Amino acid sequence: MVLIDKEYNCTGCGCCESLCPVSAIKMKENKKGFLYPVINEKYCINCGICKKNCPNLGRINKENNELKIYAMKNSNEDIRESSSSGGFFYNYAKLILELSGTIYGASFNSFNEVEHIRITELDNLKKLQGSKYVQSKINNSYIDVQKDLENDKFVLFSGTPCQVEGLKTFLSKKKTSTEKLYTCDIICHGVPSPKIFNDYLTELEKQYNSKIKNINFRHKENNLTQNIKITFENGDTYLSNYYKNDKFYKLFLDNVILRDSCYECKYSSFNRVGDISLGDFWGIENSIQNFDDNKGVSLVLVNTQKGKDIFNKLKNDFDFVETSKENCIQDNLVHPQSKSSNYEEFWNNYLNN
Ligand SMILES: Cc1cc2nc3c(=O)[nH]c(=O)nc-3n(C[C@H](O)[C@H](O)[C@H](O)COP(=O)(O)OP(=O)(O)OC[C@H]3O[C@@H](n4cnc5c(N)ncnc54)[C@H](O)[C@@H]3O)c2cc1C
Repeated sequence: MVLIDKEYNCTGCGCCESLCPVSAIKMKENKKGFLYPVINEKYCINCGICKKNCPNLGRINKENNELKIYAMKNSNEDIRESSSSGGFFYNYAKLILELSGTIYGASFNSFNEVEHIRITELDNLKKLQGSKYVQSKINNSYIDVQKDLENDKFVLFSGTPCQVEGLKTFLSKKKTSTEKLYTCDIICHGVPSPKIFNDYLTELEKQYNSKIKNINFRHKENNLTQNIKITFENGDTYLSNYYKNDKFYKLFLDNVILRDSCYECKYSSFNRVGDISLGDFWGIENSIQNFDDNKGVSLVLVNTQKGKDIFNKLKNDFDFVETSKENCIQDNLVHPQSKSSNYEEFWNNYLNN
């Protein structure tokens, strides 16, 4: 039985699965390749914890009066090169690692699927760097964060706003102290289907007659910071982008293959869930003079006192300017993406073939 469907507008955050006291809920893939919670009625004790604590129900955006907004470029060019935008995340995570803390974020696994992992070593931070434009599986992350916090560790959890909200709801229900928890949410266009991404990779592997070795969604080349670069075990390379009609980027940015809940996302606003929110400073060339150099600028929203402490500790590692809402406005800070007019046709064709 599917627990959460249209009525709950399920984001797939996985909070209900982690909260279920009898492990009766498992996240299972639907036809479009997104994870939804499914209850095994054999084990369910009808306690209602899952429904009562669904983070997506009754969410109210609270006005954030603390908000500070910055455009930031990491002074270390290697870090900026290997990051999606200005490389803020790397330094944020490094700071927490230096406090013997743990970091949670999205990484590719050996099947080229995207999932949340826990890291404790700086050498592994590269696994989390860079945007992976596919919905990430949370797995046991919320439960592992809880254990880390109970062991008095500092924790940085990064993810989409719905994942950060999922974690916070879980910890609140578990009455876990969040004094040492730091969060980072990304300004999110919406998450594409992992199944479509898998099909895209399979097609490329056939075309290049080789297994994939590495995927980079944000290779920076030719003054464009949003190229997909895929390297193959046979040494070949695929390099494309939205403007060159890369199939996956087209379906993603044209809003054909986002999760259904993304088209009604409740987090597309300046009222954020993380201590810090990170995005690309799109349009900076028009809003802030002489700052952009086509190598990526992070849009950094500092939302809380913890966020302010982090910003103050890191600011000397960056070239930065403070700016305003008006200067950094983008769709995803105002309203969710609209479904493509090709959405129904695409999915009908896809599911029938
Ligand atoms: C699906 C998706 C959609 C996005 N849409 C927008 C947008 O519309 N506008 C905008 O300004 N910015 C968007 N971003 C954010 C942007 O691409 C960068 O992640 C952000 O600017 C941070 O860059 P950075 O250089 O500081 O660090 P990076 O090193 O690039 O950041 C990596 C961080 O992103 C997290 N991350 C990567 N992939 C995922 C994933 N699939 N799910 C959850 N977390 C992930 C990692 O855990 C890590 O914390 C999106 C990111 C993702 C993943």
